[in-house]
Amino acid sequence: MERPTRIGLYGGTFDPVHVGHIAVASGLSTIFELDEVLFIPAFLAPHKRESRVTPALHRYAMLVLATQCESGLRISAIELNAPERPYTVDTLSRMRDSLGKNAELFFIMGADSWSEITSWRDSERLLELSNHIVVTRPGYEWDTDHVAPAIHQRVVDLRGHDVTRARDEIGRNQGPRIYLTDAVNLDISATAIRQAVRDGRDEEWRSLVTAPVADYIEKYQLYGEA
Ligand code: ATP
Repeated sequence: MERPTRIGLYGGTFDPVHVGHIAVASGLSTIFELDEVLFIPAFLAPHKRESRVTPALHRYAMLVLATQCESGLRISAIELNAPERPYTVDTLSRMRDSLGKNAELFFIMGADSWSEITSWRDSERLLELSNHIVVTRPGYEWDTDHVAPAIHQRVVDLRGHDVTRARDEIGRNQGPRIYLTDAVNLDISATAIRQAVRDGRDEEWRSLVTAPVADYIEKYQLYGEA
């Protein structure tokens, strides 16, 4: 029997998209045999409302540049087209409806996002709506103390597993799971990149984004001011 289409959904601010994001999307595509990963830039993430975020169109343009040559990575403007509906749970349920029953969805997040998951709107429903993949990130501990006990049972810890064992595990499961993987473990953050641009550490920040994104940041003079 043909397996359902597997789609990774990768939400975030992407201010800017960096090589850590691309490595996560590509690495997970391989391990989880995802047919496609859709980056979903937030118009303005609910938890970042207090801070200054680069206009959505610039963030979208950088995502387009960073993924142009990667056939399995695409961008969804679903949140940019409905900025009044900023919550991931709404996005995921709209995605669920539009992609249909034949699509198996995997929502991707870093360990930092997981540690804040209970502050997300309707987090328990969110965790029911699709599979989730949590990616370890240096400096962030993995923990499940903050989520309800019923959710612990759905966690599949793939840390230390090779690809074949991980795939066996993934193939065996039915119903929404929360997969934890250390397959990509990179200490790269958009905050550090913005700071490096401000400090003029050009060689450093340029190495953390793709070349077209670096040129875009320079051309439009993003992140220059404190
Ligand atoms: P910032 O430093 O501005 O918070 P960020 O680098 O964390 O930015 P976001 O756009 O906020 O990037 O991240 C989108 C998603 O990607 C989040 O779920 C985040 O946890 C995850 N993510 C970002 N960088 C990494 C990384 N190096 N490894 C694993 N996950 C990451």
